[in-house]
Amino acid sequence: MPDGYGFNHLGGRSEIEVRCIEEGCMMGGPLHKWPVRLRAAHWRMHERERRRAAQRHAAKRQREATARLRAVNRLRQETR
Ligand SMILES: [Zn+2]
Repeated sequence: MPDGYGFNHLGGRSEIEVRCIEEGCMMGGPLHKWPVRLRAAHWRMHERERRRAAQRHAAKRQREATARLRAVNRLRQETR
């Protein structure tokens, strides 16, 4: 179960298994020994990454929708 900062505190050998649970994060190791401020900063970094990814995804969706609309309009003009 991740704590408020997204770190997993489960695991018997905490110095090995307490680590950032963000998928694909290269930060392993004993994150529970980090100062809370550092852990929070690390978590905020992941938040920013997630937001950027969401924005990229939304922009891509928007471009695709616009392209579909243009294709439909083109078809309509050709069949007119
Ligand atoms: Zn991380």
